[in-house]
Amino acid sequence: MRIYVCVKQVPDTSGKVAVNPDGTLNRASMSTIINPDDMSAIDQALTLKGATGCQVIAVTMGPPPAEGMLRELLAMGVDDAVLISSREFGGSDTFATSQIIAAAISHLGIGKDDMIFCGRQAIDGDTAQVGPQIAEKLNIPQVTYATEIHKKDNVLVVKRMLEDGYMMIQVKTPCLITCVKEKNVSNSYMTVNGIMNCYSKPLTILDFETLKEEPLIDIDIIGLKGSPTNIFKSFTPPQKGTGVMFEGANRETIADLVSRLQKEHVI
Ligand SMILES: Cc1cc2nc3c(=O)[nH]c(=O)nc-3n(C[C@H](O)[C@H](O)[C@H](O)COP(=O)(O)OP(=O)(O)OC[C@H]3O[C@@H](n4cnc5c(N)ncnc54)[C@H](O)[C@@H]3O)c2cc1C
Repeated sequence: MRIYVCVKQVPDTSGKVAVNPDGTLNRASMSTIINPDDMSAIDQALTLKGATGCQVIAVTMGPPPAEGMLRELLAMGVDDAVLISSREFGGSDTFATSQIIAAAISHLGIGKDDMIFCGRQAIDGDTAQVGPQIAEKLNIPQVTYATEIHKKDNVLVVKRMLEDGYMMIQVKTPCLITCVKEKNVSNSYMTVNGIMNCYSKPLTILDFETLKEEPLIDIDIIGLKGSPTNIFKSFTPPQKGTGVMFEGANRETIADLVSRLQKEHVI
């Protein structure tokens, strides 16, 4: 029983967000973090590992420096780490990204007891498309917005977050689950032993040469050239003007407010 956890390295937007003149993120000048929802997927996978003894494999598609994030995850208790990286994969949109990740997981093998966990959404691209697209491409069931995942006999019981409550769903493996971060805390920490051992573990590197024979890989549907979506314009919205403050709730301020709203035809 294996759990593949798809993890994306993203710019740390809690600090200063640097934007290039063309409106794109200046990623080189920003520090990176593990996408917060993906930490939730890691937490869920490591909890299941504790309960069932399954194998947890972190999978990322990104440039070679993403290795640092994978080593961090190995130090937290992940068993293996896979870096999908090649010039041919650069510039992929969500369609191409999910195509490549699905091909890589197929290549590694997906058995009847295996699972794929993703975050719901990445904080940079923000589309929430990659997880569901991987499930479609591998033709396996998917459950989104999971806050808890338990194994019961040969099914998974998933607690799904809704806008106004929760839903319990049973799903058979192999399946894909996207996880949300309900509380802003993670249960997974690097251990001293983990840190000491994480650099001696070999990473699996999957490049285009290794994956090109996979049925899901086709040079015409990956990378920038094969991506069906294009960013034709990127811009920063104009800043809103400062608001007007009304000091004290008295007849004058209320009359002033009402007359301003009438002038703007709001009332
Ligand atoms: C036309 C176009 C060109 C682009 N060019 C580039 C480019 O040159 N370089 C670049 O970095 N980005 C590029 N992008 C952005 C890239 O497509 C997205 O970063 C990527 O597809 C993930 O989408 P998302 O961030 O919306 O993830 P979401 O769909 O919001 O992510 C959901 C979950 O999917 C998983 N996931 C997402 N991405 C990855 C990943 N890479 N590895 C492992 N798991 C993942 C995670 O579990 C994540 O929580 C481009 C996008 C477009 C539309």
